[in-house]
Amino acid sequence: MKEFNINTLVRKNILNLQPYISFRDHNEFNAPVMLDANECPFGEFNRYPDSSQKKIKNKLAELKGISPSKIALGNGSDELIDLIIKIFCEPKKDAILMMNPSFAMYGFYAAVNENEVLKLNLDENFEILKDDFLKISKENKPKIFFLCSPNNPTGNSVEDIEFFIRNFDGIVVIDEAYIEFSGNRSGIELLDQYSNVIVLQTFSKAWGTAGARVGAAYASEEIIRLINTVKAPYNVNSLSQEFILNLLDNKNKLQENVGKVLEERAWLEEQFKSIECIVKVFPTDANFFLIKMNNAQTVYQKLLEQEILTSQRSPAIADCIRINVGSREENEKLINVLKGILS
Ligand SMILES: *Cc1c(COP(=O)(O)O)cnc(C)c1O
Repeated sequence: MKEFNINTLVRKNILNLQPYISFRDHNEFNAPVMLDANECPFGEFNRYPDSSQKKIKNKLAELKGISPSKIALGNGSDELIDLIIKIFCEPKKDAILMMNPSFAMYGFYAAVNENEVLKLNLDENFEILKDDFLKISKENKPKIFFLCSPNNPTGNSVEDIEFFIRNFDGIVVIDEAYIEFSGNRSGIELLDQYSNVIVLQTFSKAWGTAGARVGAAYASEEIIRLINTVKAPYNVNSLSQEFILNLLDNKNKLQENVGKVLEERAWLEEQFKSIECIVKVFPTDANFFLIKMNNAQTVYQKLLEQEILTSQRSPAIADCIRINVGSREENEKLINVLKGILS
């Protein structure tokens, strides 16, 4: 059990903020005449969305076995990353810590907020060096550690996550954007034990709804209250809320997507073995592969000529390309083009 006084970590101006409370969203009515929000009385999407997204939270709460008061929703988990930085990091003063390589958006939002970005270089297997972590945490006292597991773009999961939580005097954000593709247990299970943890999940990857832009944060009630205080009141629009609600009623959808992606992932892995330009396929717990090529730049270009878009990670990760699992048809096209690229 690690007890944190979260308030000592929060920016003073944020602590003093009053959340925007939508009167209609926080009271029960039967058939109200709504003349309070200057909306148009006609049309299908004429009303503002539920600012507290109660229905989705109730369903997610049931699915995850957690109280709805410990869930915040964002316009993608991207928005939540931005908000978390704004809540805890004083511009020009505080720093965040992130793995390197990892998801670029942590550094991006920190830079927008004028916070220093400290990078924890991973070893050759893309694992965190614990001594480096302890040193940089102690010396530089970053406010937030973004722990991405499975990590994007490397694909591997972080081992011994509790070590990093126990040894960090700030907020640990566990980004689980790809957790459904791994066998990992969620950090949500750790929330009762550690009050400095925020778990991020998203509907953009395994759920298959990147276009709806909905992500979720799971954390203590105190932290969730802070997120709700700083978020734009109507950050998740009505169309997306409806869409996600329907999706949550169709629980098989997630399993279906994950099952198909894992099947394709295994198929691709087998096919990669006979591709000449591939030097190494790194082990993955996600829906993508990080692959070391004989000449990443050439391979990337040749794929692009055939209108196959991949993610060039070189030179940051020498000679590597990140390729995500597609449909069978897309994967076959990928393999055929790769087969034609000789060393
Ligand atoms: C894709 C991804 C996200 C999801 O972002 P959304 O804004 O929810 O679409 C978050 N974190 C990581 C590491 C990702 O790769």
